[in-house]
Amino acid sequence: MSYIHRTISDLKSTSPAQSEFYQAVEEVLDSLAPILESNKLYQQQAIIQRLVEPERQIMFRVPWVDDQGNIQVNKGYRIEFNSALGPYKGGLRFHPSVNASIIKFLGFEQIFKNALTGLPIGGGKGGSNFNPKGKSDGEIMRFCQSFMAELYRHIGPTTDVPAGDIGVGAREIGYMFGQYKRLTGRYEGVLTGKSLLWGGSLVRKEATGYGVVYFANNMLSVKQDSLKDKKCLVSGSGNVAIYAMEKLYQLGATPISCSDSTGTIYHEAGIDLLLVKQLKEQSRTGLEAYLVEHKDAQFTPIADYPADGHAVWRFKADAAFPCATQNEVTLADAQALVSNGCHIVSEGANMPSTQEAINTFIEAKISYGPGKAANAGGVATSQLEMAQNSSMQTWSFEEVDEKLQVIMKNIFITAHKTAIEFGQPGNLVLGANIAGFKRVADAMLEQGVV
Ligand code: NAP
Repeated sequence: MSYIHRTISDLKSTSPAQSEFYQAVEEVLDSLAPILESNKLYQQQAIIQRLVEPERQIMFRVPWVDDQGNIQVNKGYRIEFNSALGPYKGGLRFHPSVNASIIKFLGFEQIFKNALTGLPIGGGKGGSNFNPKGKSDGEIMRFCQSFMAELYRHIGPTTDVPAGDIGVGAREIGYMFGQYKRLTGRYEGVLTGKSLLWGGSLVRKEATGYGVVYFANNMLSVKQDSLKDKKCLVSGSGNVAIYAMEKLYQLGATPISCSDSTGTIYHEAGIDLLLVKQLKEQSRTGLEAYLVEHKDAQFTPIADYPADGHAVWRFKADAAFPCATQNEVTLADAQALVSNGCHIVSEGANMPSTQEAINTFIEAKISYGPGKAANAGGVATSQLEMAQNSSMQTWSFEEVDEKLQVIMKNIFITAHKTAIEFGQPGNLVLGANIAGFKRVADAMLEQGVV
């Protein structure tokens, strides 16, 4: 059995029943054979075994009182995965599907994503199985305060700096920051994604969505093409999806779909972004309400999705931007995209494509930007927020956006050149995995067995 397969097999027996985590590990390790072959030190120094084992896993109880006076109990997680390159950095997800496997897959991905940005940040992730949907502001606040009542012991501006993710936006970050400040008496950059009124960075809100689109444009520019006039399928209608659609419009492309946990909107004339912002950022309602203003749009409820995938990927378009959640592009979805002429996929979500879907894109030789490269703009801009906080400075929107564009271009070039160097031109999965791995692994080698 090879070193890689032995490590995966050991992992499955020592960390049972964590399918999303194994999926993320296998996706990365499958790409690493050529670099492990070229430098035997990685194997001799057990770099892979050390990489797949988090440095620290914190699991805790989050009790809180709902509006009816009932006591509710949720699970809280913070996985501090790897600090070879800097303080742990990665978001917090509040969603009923959250468990140790989901947080570990996200934390593992985060190590390589953060390495690819070239910035001094390690990898971590956290969250809770708390469902923010339908909760009052008071309930959200009490939950966030209880969550932080344990988390504050483990985080700090030079140790671990969480941010938002699914279900955690500016409101939740605000409540958690307030509680951190009350418990520690310190006003410091311990969370990113903060409000602009008290330490947030311009462009952080937009960064992941904008970055995904910048990444797509970089993939196209090497083919002397651009996003102008392209029809684009987008999934999700949260933070990443909304700002991906905004940037698509700015670059002359047309997003024609978006989705949420209730169904998919398809609007041939182009998604009404102002309306989506209003429905999702203000009213926090389901997307079916879009039809009230746009009778020419089409809504497919989840119950009517094809058995082997998702309605959103079955429409004809030039490009696809999965921006909702993991495993939202199946093999059948990927085949439908490719046969309908889609030739660009840039991932805003983390691990949205199954391994079979990824293989389909690579075999079809379309421009495929994996999440850990294409959606790294969010964490990169979080690091820019940390830099502004620690230097007590505030940069303009243009300044931060320019830095974001440079970072996204560098990530693309790094993945693109690494793919060529290792004999698989165009394979950005291999390029991103090897380049991210090399930076972390070399730092681990230099720091000794820790
Ligand atoms: P968000 O604002 O909470 O939006 C998530 C969107 O996806 C919502 O439209 C939600 O629908 C939909 N969704 C979530 N779970 C779903 C499910 N199981 N089935 C169908 N739809 C689902 O979160 P976000 O920040 O945009 O994050 C989206 C993705 O991007 C995640 O994979 C996240 O890890 C990744 N990401 C985010 C950032 C960032 O900076 N925020 C950075 C890098 C990667 P509802 O509206 O119905 O809930």
